Amino acid sequence: MRLADVPGQHSVKEKLTGLVDANRLSHALLFLGKEGAGALQLAIALSQYIVCVNKQSQDACGACPACIKATALSHPDIHFSFPTITRNSGDKPICSDFMTEWRSFIAQTPFGNAYDWLQAIGAENKQGNITAHECEDINRKLQLKSFESGFKVLIQWMPEYLGQSGNKLLKLIEEPPPKTVFVFVAEDESRILPTILSRTQLVKINPLDTPSLEHWLISNQAVPREKARSIAPMAQGNMREAFQILHNADEDWQEHLRQWLNAVLKNGPAAQLKWVEEIAKLGREKQKQFLSYFIHLLSTATRILHTGMPPSSTDIEIDFATRLTKLARTEQIQAMVEELDRSIYHIERNANPKILFMALTIKISHILRDKSLILTH
Ligand SMILES: [Zn+2]
Repeated sequence: MRLADVPGQHSVKEKLTGLVDANRLSHALLFLGKEGAGALQLAIALSQYIVCVNKQSQDACGACPACIKATALSHPDIHFSFPTITRNSGDKPICSDFMTEWRSFIAQTPFGNAYDWLQAIGAENKQGNITAHECEDINRKLQLKSFESGFKVLIQWMPEYLGQSGNKLLKLIEEPPPKTVFVFVAEDESRILPTILSRTQLVKINPLDTPSLEHWLISNQAVPREKARSIAPMAQGNMREAFQILHNADEDWQEHLRQWLNAVLKNGPAAQLKWVEEIAKLGREKQKQFLSYFIHLLSTATRILHTGMPPSSTDIEIDFATRLTKLARTEQIQAMVEELDRSIYHIERNANPKILFMALTIKISHILRDKSLILTH
């Protein structure tokens, strides 16, 4: 994976390649970025840049023997570590046992999250972790001499899964063998061992900007321009989310929304209950997408209210958003967005969908009807 294959993130790429070129790259980096921002891809592309023997201007060549091995995730000096599961009781899993699955995961969905990966290796309800055994294996691997490039890189994805066994890595991080680079790739700073956190240099990876996400959909996922333009703003800088929306595009979110608003505004409790039962049947991912879609339309409506000009959206969405501006004023729209955001948060934490959508229906109904309450703000 070349850096050019990683969407967006131009300033981080420039900074990192500059540090490699100047031989000033810290030996322990922590890439911290929200799901779907491409932090893992960036780490993989950086490791390829480090081992490439024919570096171009700020990118790996993609064609030298080192690049070819790095692209296949089989370069002997680039090591990977990630959460695994115990398949049979008594097993002591290490990441090397999962490389076939890892290569295919990275080839297909390098923007996936830990849940996707654990499902890909058949975890079902098992918790993943990065075992003490794996930490010992890392120690062993990094003590070996570099095979080809002079450098050794270890990419550890999701150090949140380390637990106390991570302390086995401290000495190695503190006094690494020469020319060894650790790249930890994490989403949630608060779940990383403080002893690891304090020994790494933080590199923040921001969510993708919407044009980069749109471009990625067109060039990497072969999505038609018009459709990419509609999906990218909904996904809020998250490639995984964009991918999910793309592959669940059979759902007619506008129709769901039209029925919901009709139930709220016109048709009364029986229609509301019926709607809640329908939406509760969809899985969590789809429920989140529906709410994100509504948020997207509401922000389009806000833009129309403020500037009179719609942002880049499809004509049907602009039409729907324009109708929303007739239903609600800016403060009401803002209050709805907050409720929808909160619901997404609770869906991610396994809230009961029926209770959640019933409560949300009541709240949205209050917001839309109770104008006096809004006026007191
Ligand atoms: Zn190369």
